[in-house]
Amino acid sequence: MQKDHPYPSAVPSVTHLIHHPYKPPAGFDAPQPGVFKASTVYFPTVADMRQREWKDKSAYTYGLHGTPTTYLLEERLCALEGGLQCMLVPSGLAALALVALAVLKTGDEVLIPDNAYGPNKALADGELRHFGITHRFYDPMDPQDLSRQITERTRLVWLEAPGSVSMEFPDLPEMVRRCRERGVLCALDNTWGAGLAFKPFDLLGDGDAGEGSLAVDISAHALTKYPSGGGDVLMGSVITREAALHLKIKLCHMRLGLGVAANDAETVLRSLPSIALRYSAHDQTARALAAWWQTQPQCAQLMHPAFEGAPGHAHWKALCDRDPGTGSAAGLFSIMIDARFSQVQVDAFCDGLKLFKIGYSWGGPVSLVVPYNIASMRQAWPVHLKPGTLVRFSTGLESSHDLILDLHQAVQAHLPMA
Ligand SMILES: *Cc1c(COP(=O)(O)O)cnc(C)c1O
Repeated sequence: MQKDHPYPSAVPSVTHLIHHPYKPPAGFDAPQPGVFKASTVYFPTVADMRQREWKDKSAYTYGLHGTPTTYLLEERLCALEGGLQCMLVPSGLAALALVALAVLKTGDEVLIPDNAYGPNKALADGELRHFGITHRFYDPMDPQDLSRQITERTRLVWLEAPGSVSMEFPDLPEMVRRCRERGVLCALDNTWGAGLAFKPFDLLGDGDAGEGSLAVDISAHALTKYPSGGGDVLMGSVITREAALHLKIKLCHMRLGLGVAANDAETVLRSLPSIALRYSAHDQTARALAAWWQTQPQCAQLMHPAFEGAPGHAHWKALCDRDPGTGSAAGLFSIMIDARFSQVQVDAFCDGLKLFKIGYSWGGPVSLVVPYNIASMRQAWPVHLKPGTLVRFSTGLESSHDLILDLHQAVQAHLPMA
């Protein structure tokens, strides 16, 4: 029985305001979907409440378990990355944490590339260690090192392409093959690729996601970056293609209560249609800036996977540039500023930039710069990195001409060669 006109009193009161009989006509259709906000979801009857199944998205039971807005975003993200199931979480880091907590238990070990996103390493060294889950770092540029470190306790291997900050591009298909051979789950932090530079569930690029395909088990993604595109939303996703693995992640997600706000989901839905155009624009600008840096004597090394000589360039070419010249990359690169310049000088250079803002994260309209102390972030100084001070740039959507002028003035003012 539908209780759609429940109040007995004919006298207008605050109850009328809350239990109002008017319902707008169905069938509203427009470019952007509606924002459905809910903790409580109504059931017409108790029997219906007992029957409803939220795990397969066939119904609604509670805001935390999904709304039309979050289901819609999940499905569209699956389309972007080539997955079948998706969970939304409140940040990219929460996506990494959810994967770890869903698949690891006391006594297990997780392998992490030494150039992984820093907070993922910190999670392993903090909460995971407290739970009796051990971790080891492997050399992301050496698949043999990965194989050597896999033991019978290894339950999860993290992959990142390219690594954070130092931007080495690993031989991702080979790493995945090695995890497959040993029967170990592999999860990719796919924030850089964003489902655009390559397909995490079709690493052979033959459009086949079936039995013969080469795929990661899990793609975790900081939607905070390109899917949001505004520098104003924190969100993450965990995408899979296997129902049992997804259910494991979903139940952990539910027990941890990792809901996302409907307005934030709507913001990402609003940005998603333009993601490929923005990604390409960020990419072109980053390459223009990187090419300019190559002409500057202050730049001892360029770390942008699409550039000849950059760490892992051949792996980027093989995975992302199959049709040579058409490959894409995120708008992110680092340079090693020559060791003759002090940290103080490099900091002054960053402070002296006018268009580039100093700030973490990336994927928004404004270009960002951050100097990093790589020695404190790695087990050892990577052999392929020249000495110097690393500065990472994330390109926004400004004109590359103006950005280069800005770099030029700050270099002239703060990094004199003579
Ligand atoms: C930014 C980022 C994250 C974390 O995303 P947040 O939404 O900021 O928590 C994870 N991995 C990579 C590679 C990132 O760049």
